[in-house]
Amino acid sequence: MKLTSKLLCLGLFLVLTALSCSSINTPDTIYTNGHIYTSDISNSKVEAVAVKDGMILATGSLAEIDAMKGKNTKVIDLEGKTMTPGFIESHGHLMGIGYNKLELDLMYVKTYDELVEKVAEAVQNAKPGEWITGRGWHQDKWIERPDNMVKGFQTHDKLSEVSPDNPVYLRHASGHATFANEKAMQLAGVNRLSLEQLSSEVEGGEIIKDDLGNPTGVFTERASGLVGRLVPQSTEDKDEQALEMAIQECLEKGITSFHDAGSGQGFIDRLGKFKTEGKLGIRMYVMLSGRSPELLERWYESGPMIDPDHYVTVRSIKLNCDGALGPRGAWLLEDYTDRAGHTGHETLPMEVVTEVSEKGLQHGFQVCSHAIGDRANREILDRYQTAFEKYPELATDHRFRIEHAQHLSGADIPRFGELGVIPAMQAIHMSSDRPWAIDRLGKARIEEGAYVWQDLLKSGAIIPNGTDAPVEPVDPIPSFYASVSRKTLAGLPEGGFEPNQKMSRDQALKSFTIFGAFSEFEEDFKGSIEVGKVADFTVFDKDIMTIPEAEILNTKVAMTIVGGKVLYDAKQ
Ligand SMILES: [Zn+2]
Repeated sequence: MKLTSKLLCLGLFLVLTALSCSSINTPDTIYTNGHIYTSDISNSKVEAVAVKDGMILATGSLAEIDAMKGKNTKVIDLEGKTMTPGFIESHGHLMGIGYNKLELDLMYVKTYDELVEKVAEAVQNAKPGEWITGRGWHQDKWIERPDNMVKGFQTHDKLSEVSPDNPVYLRHASGHATFANEKAMQLAGVNRLSLEQLSSEVEGGEIIKDDLGNPTGVFTERASGLVGRLVPQSTEDKDEQALEMAIQECLEKGITSFHDAGSGQGFIDRLGKFKTEGKLGIRMYVMLSGRSPELLERWYESGPMIDPDHYVTVRSIKLNCDGALGPRGAWLLEDYTDRAGHTGHETLPMEVVTEVSEKGLQHGFQVCSHAIGDRANREILDRYQTAFEKYPELATDHRFRIEHAQHLSGADIPRFGELGVIPAMQAIHMSSDRPWAIDRLGKARIEEGAYVWQDLLKSGAIIPNGTDAPVEPVDPIPSFYASVSRKTLAGLPEGGFEPNQKMSRDQALKSFTIFGAFSEFEEDFKGSIEVGKVADFTVFDKDIMTIPEAEILNTKVAMTIVGGKVLYDAKQ
């Protein structure tokens, strides 16, 4: 055969192969006519995306993708809206979101009196003696301070007045303090006399007392358990109801993947059941709660559970190493600026961090440690580093995380990049907390190391973003806004707090997509709109990448797509 006819044959062969491939590779859905941000390495935009069997088949220009269309291909017209990879909530508490909906939601309460009113209403509808539980109050977010503040907190008098016979137990928005009424404390045997015997500093927490030694109703950290242990346990029916509500809430807010920051076996089993029943919707990455050593032992034994369907994966451990800044529980290297002689607490013995880090490496688990204060962050970095050095061959791709990493000593900032430790931060916390955080830390510490996103990114670290829901609503938009503006949600101050630490919009988008995916070992599967990855998308009604900053907060989710299926559509 002559060379030319050989080439002709080859050409014919290629055309035939291409044709047969194209029939196999006909997309079932095409997304078009929108601003499509891929969040790939070069932050590129495309005009259209083709999807088949829940996976991305092609991305490109309108003409390229249109040419792939088959007779059964469905075209989703984005109508000029903005599509991004599915948003990943990298630190939240899924059951808490559901329970907020089932219990008294105190998140939007603006004064102490309003909180008391809400409880009074609940008392009207409660049976005699029934517990009234709620969550989400935050005294620093109230627009006025009640009288008789003790150590920065309200006292129980008014609360006890409206609920003399029903015990009341209300969790702080941070999850690090609780507020109980007289009846609840009576049942728990907490009173002035019992406190004379019991030191008010129970291990890893505090019962706040007034000048006369009476308990004020506020308990921080582990002291909450004195009353909390009496609150009736939930039922499985109620848990499932809460889970369903939480999943729906996530989908409505554009969340396609969720990192659950510390749960037990019951929750994992419930997720498995929801997956089997086709009710799960979002992809779950579960951190095992380090509060239960038996749970960890069982999982060390069995090893991680990595879901081939990418829906319920368990391969990480959550440790709670200090408290929050609000109730002055964050563990600091030096005294609180607004409470001399007080440096907060560690909330677990630091040897546990060492032990879990080593066992985590040995058994294939990532470790995610909650640390807010600079002391807690340093202690954890030190312990992680020691474990990496002890087991270098097991630590080549550890992806250990510090949850929150809010306040760092300047010397520790570069260590994140150097050690490959991931600071999992929730930008919305800066927006909500920065106005009063400066009282706790003072100007110098705030400027050196509080919410230092740009310094961390420059150190080579990545920042997976989130909301810590239900501490904040699970809506990623306010956190995205906080990331790029460093302002409160009221738009203050002009120019933002410590503006040199702002994220760019590309960085903020990555923090909610590919960085989140990397933080759960899933960057090859999701987190960007690229061929071969899953078709998880979030569609917004505004172009969050270009609209004026102030307009970001008015953005709504138009559609949430998981595995190629539209699971939320604002129009329906
Ligand atoms: Zn949390």
